Amino acid sequence: MWVGVVDGHEQITTPYCRCPYCKKRTVTKKGGVKDVQYYHEFTAFILAGPEISFILDIEPILPGEGEISSSYRLIERVLGNYPRAFSVVIGDGLYLKKTVFNLLKRHHKYTIAVLKEERRQLSQEANSLSLLVEPKTYKQGRTYYKVWDHSIKGCWDGYGKEVRVIVSEEATVKRIHSKDGKSFEDIVDKANWMWVTNLPCPETDDLKNTVRICHCRWQIENQCFNETVNMWNADHIYRHSENAIIAFLLLLFIVVNIFNIFRIRNIKDKSIKAKVFLMNLIKSGFLTTKRPLSPIPSIPI
Ligand SMILES: [Zn+2]
Repeated sequence: MWVGVVDGHEQITTPYCRCPYCKKRTVTKKGGVKDVQYYHEFTAFILAGPEISFILDIEPILPGEGEISSSYRLIERVLGNYPRAFSVVIGDGLYLKKTVFNLLKRHHKYTIAVLKEERRQLSQEANSLSLLVEPKTYKQGRTYYKVWDHSIKGCWDGYGKEVRVIVSEEATVKRIHSKDGKSFEDIVDKANWMWVTNLPCPETDDLKNTVRICHCRWQIENQCFNETVNMWNADHIYRHSENAIIAFLLLLFIVVNIFNIFRIRNIKDKSIKAKVFLMNLIKSGFLTTKRPLSPIPSIPI
């Protein structure tokens, strides 16, 4: 099953205002010097799958509004256009909002949001329950998991229904070079995660799968934002106007989606393993073609 993931991304920061849709903020630098920055932001909705992520849609965050207002428009549009593409949507701590949970519930979708310490009552309740209950423990790859699944009601102001809080303590063993440079040593990377969800409790105790789904949120950071910025130059502004910025991003995301589908489905050559290698191979094919590409056929009117 594909999992929906929503998040915001800041695209450029510049000292000059170039269009009426530039957002503005004042930052204080070292020595107390105040600087005005102009920037563009958008929210993105992706489908995270086991092998690839599929970028579905984006929505600009306009001046004077926050990520949630933009993502609300985005989620409503995605729900209308792709009503059966997913059944769970994940967001970061910002999406732990009654309005988001209720909007998705009206469309028969479940929500998962990261629980941060700021939501003191809910996180404190989860922490105190974790002291009383034995966790489920398992190992996946190099990571050891301790997972608790609590049902809590009445600790989230404004949301009267019962929610599940999933707590995951993760320890990953990593091998690094020792300081003398002659041998290796093992270090343990620890991470603590908490998520709030209205997913129903499964009849079979499949917490492993629920934790895996919760971690899908990283795919929007890694495969949508980081990868498109570092490998595809997504943050570059080719023409600074609101429409041009969004049109370029939408076109780029179509290209990235087609490239990813091609990569996982159509590669016969087993020597092509890395994405960068395939990208450079396509690029070199374009540059070394003996005959120039045929012109785009004109459509008779
Ligand atoms: Zn602008």
